[in-house]
Amino acid sequence: MTERTRLYRHIAARFGDARLTIELVPKTSWYSNVRSHVSEAEWDRLRKPVQRRAKSQCEICGGRGPTHAVECHEIWRYDDDTYVQELMGLTALCPACHAVKHFGRTYTRGRADEALQHLADVNGWTEEVAADYIALVLELWRLRSEVPWRLDLTWLTEHGITIPERDPAKARPPDA
Ligand SMILES: [Zn+2]
Repeated sequence: MTERTRLYRHIAARFGDARLTIELVPKTSWYSNVRSHVSEAEWDRLRKPVQRRAKSQCEICGGRGPTHAVECHEIWRYDDDTYVQELMGLTALCPACHAVKHFGRTYTRGRADEALQHLADVNGWTEEVAADYIALVLELWRLRSEVPWRLDLTWLTEHGITIPERDPAKARPPDA
């Protein structure tokens, strides 16, 4: 078992019942943002049923944002043995939960404290537990960023969307 798999299992065993989790896209996955690779019409077709399902309420905490009630978030699953990053679907999240999901980006925007507090509140954790969890997922992200990931976008093709070949001109760092 790799160090990465061991760490993933440790996090799952200790924090597996968390309602709100952090999902950091590895640096070595450059195709993480579906939205920038599909047309606006296609994105709307994917997004609208999710927003309808959520009825403008966060699918994790039930909250709403002040400007945008909910935002669309891509759910990925990482197989640490086969290096496959699989798109599982979309979910509607309030901006506070969404900021926790993309903790790396939130941190660079100087909003880490707010995100840590929201993570603790939603999961019923102390700030210390939330900080422990954050340290572990950052370590997992570092390990996952050392290996190349292969994308499985079957979910998109099942929704009638053809993904263009990866265009290096469009490549940009993922939303960690
Ligand atoms: Zn929320």
